[in-house]
Amino acid sequence: MKRMTTNFGQPVDNDLDSMTAGNPGPVLIQDVHLVEKLAHFNRERIPERVVHAKGAGAGGYFEVTKDVSKWTKAKFLSEVGKRTEVFVRFSTVGGEKGSADAERDPRGFAVKFYTEDGNYDLVGNNTPVFFIRDPLKFPDFIHTQKRKPGTNLKDPDMFWDFLSLTPESVHQVSILFSDRGTPRSYRNMNGYGSHTFKWYNDRGETYYVKYHFKTDQGIENLTMEEAEEMKGKDPDHATRDLHEAIEEGDFPSWTLQVQIMTPEEAKEYRFDPFDVTKVWPHDDYPPMDIGRMVLDRNPDNYFAEVEQAAFSPGNFVPGIAASEDKMLQGRLFAYPDAHRYRLGANYHQIPVNASKAKVDNYQRDGSMRTDGNMGGGPNYWPNSYDAAEPVPGEGEPMYPVSGMAGRQPYKHENDDFVQAGALYNKAMNDQDRANLVRNIVAHLGNARRDIQQRQVKIFFKADPDYGRRVAEGLGLSEDDLA
Ligand code: NDP
Repeated sequence: MKRMTTNFGQPVDNDLDSMTAGNPGPVLIQDVHLVEKLAHFNRERIPERVVHAKGAGAGGYFEVTKDVSKWTKAKFLSEVGKRTEVFVRFSTVGGEKGSADAERDPRGFAVKFYTEDGNYDLVGNNTPVFFIRDPLKFPDFIHTQKRKPGTNLKDPDMFWDFLSLTPESVHQVSILFSDRGTPRSYRNMNGYGSHTFKWYNDRGETYYVKYHFKTDQGIENLTMEEAEEMKGKDPDHATRDLHEAIEEGDFPSWTLQVQIMTPEEAKEYRFDPFDVTKVWPHDDYPPMDIGRMVLDRNPDNYFAEVEQAAFSPGNFVPGIAASEDKMLQGRLFAYPDAHRYRLGANYHQIPVNASKAKVDNYQRDGSMRTDGNMGGGPNYWPNSYDAAEPVPGEGEPMYPVSGMAGRQPYKHENDDFVQAGALYNKAMNDQDRANLVRNIVAHLGNARRDIQQRQVKIFFKADPDYGRRVAEGLGLSEDDLA
């Protein structure tokens, strides 16, 4: 028999009847088991993530398939055949924790590699670009995707008002409103690091890199009608699909590709290579396969592993670093800040977040410190004890920075429409284009007329045929758009 106990190990003799004075009678405060049980229940929820609240996760491994050591000294990428344990969390972005998996939304694609040099997190989306490229706009942007303060309803005016005043969003808007905005499952979508990152090798030479996880299951999407139906039929369809596939031994996998650019090329490139609203076209920088990720383990406990999973774009290992991408720089702060708020200063000790490499430094104490707090050893550096020391040579190589300090926009801003146009007229087929226009019309049609007009002018700039078809769908005439 397994003994039932309180949280402090005392045996519980009865878990059905509260302790009362008389029968019936008032409940006694001395029933500490009842009090503990009710009090713990009241504290079951931790703050929901403001973005990416609804998610599903799985464990697995990453295996290197190409020698990349001439570009990066990252140990987990050091030789073909090398395997590293990973944990992955997929998510939607704007919806609450109970929202439907089939909502039109980007999907989060966050990968934690447990390497011998500590954790490396690649915290991406299923889209290669983003709506904005400056973190100062992020809270405003997310507010417009959430509920209106007065009504607590999602509001197409808020949504399109902001986007139509933010022309750099049109590239991501065009991916979001293609059927890729409603993937059939988490297994049937790609993941992208989206930002430009930096790699450096053991000679201190640096390269810029973009990551693409290509689904081996093939891209499959839901149409607008299928997604609408799925939201009602099974709001958890993607969570269920991932769990069931792994349970049945049908392990999903992704091929990891990278594009690599030298710093010299970055200076001259026709797009700003750090602008996250842009891709590096494949013709300029052909993606190459470097590894494969397989998910073969369902979490034993959702809260422990998925709800408490904490990814940070700033979790780099030697050989990998941040680029100048401003959105990435903002995220380097925002993610660990969110985790400290949701999970506490010692969230790195939660098993799913804990490094498999030994952790040793002089940070101490804090709420929920659950290890030995580094025992009786010194809590300062420098010290003259046989204790942890910095490891010279493990840092990122220095790089030059120059220019004026101040608030300044990205260069090449006038290129905002070129890549949305290329998506529409080059990457998409006729069916993709028809579905894109239909999906936009169904949503934008609910916004105010003046907002529709402003947004359609942006689609025109991306591609005249794109603008014309959306205008037609909305019943806007040329006069309306003059
Ligand atoms: P390519 O023709 O070489 O690549 C086009 C890529 O577009 C495909 O490889 C595919 O990416 C992606 N794609 C295809 N259909 C759709 C769709 N319906 N919705 C979203 N993406 C789709 O052209 P370029 O590299 O010159 O890029 C042209 C445009 O393609 C870009 O402006 C961008 O909008 C889009 N794109 C480009 C990517 C890149 O990294 N260069 C990545 C994704 C999209 P995948 O193989 O990743 O599925």
